[in-house]
Amino acid sequence: MHGLAWMEETLGEITTVAEHCGLRTITKVTLCRGQLSHHFPEELELAWDLVKQGTICEQAVLVIEEEPALVSCSACGWEGQWHSELACCQACASRVELVSGTDLQLVDIQGI
Ligand SMILES: [Zn+2]
Repeated sequence: MHGLAWMEETLGEITTVAEHCGLRTITKVTLCRGQLSHHFPEELELAWDLVKQGTICEQAVLVIEEEPALVSCSACGWEGQWHSELACCQACASRVELVSGTDLQLVDIQGI
């Protein structure tokens, strides 16, 4: 259950920012999840419910935004959204490289 470890670390980051900004209660936390991240939304929500208990984030809503995975082809320069295969959508059919879409990031927190 690696989502839990990630969430615990993120909660630490949120707490540090909240202290720095003088926030006493966090109301909303937004994450950006790449389409190919190995952390699944259900897993993250479950982990969030566990780690926020008894913290300044107890009342916070978790929002998970999805970021599409992008690939680029080294042979023809084509760039586009990843679908199901790591092959170029253009005629060259070369292997493409992942440009983005594997990350999971904390992008925003709101509090009072
Ligand atoms: Zn290509």
